Amino acid sequence: MFPPDKADAVIIGGGLAGSSMAIGLAKAGWNTVLMDQNNLPKHKVCGEFLSPESIAMLHVLGLQEAVDAIGPAEIDKAILTLANGATLTIPMREKAMGISRYQLDFIMQQRAEELGALWLGGTSVSAVKCNENGTYLVQAYTKGGQEPHSSITAKSVIAAWGRHPRADLAVNDPAVPSSASRTRAVTYVGIKAHYEEVPAGGAVELYFFRGGYIGLCPIEEGRTNVTALMTERAFQEAGKSVAAAIESASTQNPALRKRLAVGSPIVGSLSATSPVRLDRQLKAWSRFPLIGDAAVMIPPLCGDGMAMALRSAQLGLPLAHRYLYGDLTMDGWQIAYTRELTREFTSPVRMGKWLQGALSSTGMGTILFGLGKVAPFMSNQIFRATRLRG
Ligand SMILES: Cc1cc2nc3c(=O)[nH]c(=O)nc-3n(C[C@H](O)[C@H](O)[C@H](O)COP(=O)(O)OP(=O)(O)OC[C@H]3O[C@@H](n4cnc5c(N)ncnc54)[C@H](O)[C@@H]3O)c2cc1C
Repeated sequence: MFPPDKADAVIIGGGLAGSSMAIGLAKAGWNTVLMDQNNLPKHKVCGEFLSPESIAMLHVLGLQEAVDAIGPAEIDKAILTLANGATLTIPMREKAMGISRYQLDFIMQQRAEELGALWLGGTSVSAVKCNENGTYLVQAYTKGGQEPHSSITAKSVIAAWGRHPRADLAVNDPAVPSSASRTRAVTYVGIKAHYEEVPAGGAVELYFFRGGYIGLCPIEEGRTNVTALMTERAFQEAGKSVAAAIESASTQNPALRKRLAVGSPIVGSLSATSPVRLDRQLKAWSRFPLIGDAAVMIPPLCGDGMAMALRSAQLGLPLAHRYLYGDLTMDGWQIAYTRELTREFTSPVRMGKWLQGALSSTGMGTILFGLGKVAPFMSNQIFRATRLRG
């Protein structure tokens, strides 16, 4: 029957977290369904900076060859530039990479399929109901469809639906900010474009301006990822489009204008996402496990969101095995996963939020840059503190 009406595991969301979980479960022989509301390949808003930690975890998933075949750019330093022209170069101890999500998410989905997972692209989960016998009923629609496309009874459900909280699917979810805090907190817009002909320098570059920053990251085929995270207000004042936002940032940061002067955006690569909230609390569970950005989000300027997505799946996988084998109760799974996630992620996320706040404030940014110049190891240590230690 297609789509099937039964599965051991249904994973909602085919980004890095969902696909890596599907790879692990399918490899172990579990009947796994991986669903995403979009078809792949597809452009996604992301700086596409792959940290050394992410690279190592992709290798563990057996993806080294597939990643190398894409020809990612090598990166060995970060260069930060304030609007006043002050710069800070931070060498990296281990090599990082730049690779498009267009390619990366696609090869991961393909790997999951090769190992036996069923991929349902263009399929949006609309409801997850708890059955009395402890299984779930997962209902999903195809894009634009009126009738449920699939109703699957699953022994387990794993939420990997990304950064947008799904209060409708995850009941009583404190990761969803209350309406009171929604009115107070700053919300951001993420934008992305791929450029061609921007001279590459083996560095990830961050350019700050009022209300946000733009990152330049070299990726495959000599292209450059240009991604910004800016407040909704700054985005509106700039003119509410990807091109207008990049233009406004370039006006405020002349070094960025100079960098992009010779490049041009590639048609079809532009995308935007909003709202991006950096104030969400870590939340590991809501009737079922949450992995990746669904559980926790580190400010994007740390360049570690993909590592966290992969690591959360890595932490959840052995527990999912044990639950499906009947070695662990659902309560046991929840307790163990929440403990592990909290232990590993709390400190880097806290440090990441502090760094995001500090670099967004002109005064503090200048102090940090000054500190980085006289004591380079300090800036390295600060960035390292946002990294997962495992
Ligand atoms: C501006 C910006 C820049 C960033 N830059 C970097 C960077 O340079 N390096 C880095 O490591 N990280 C970066 N990140 C973070 C990184 O993009 C995320 O941490 C990472 O994508 C999380 O992966 P994920 O699988 O949890 O979620 P996602 O990749 O967002 O995947 C979630 C998937 O779930 C699907 N989905 C959602 N709802 C449903 C539904 N109801 N039914 C079916 N499917 C559904 C979505 O279509 C999506 O494909 C950045 C983030 C932003 C916003």
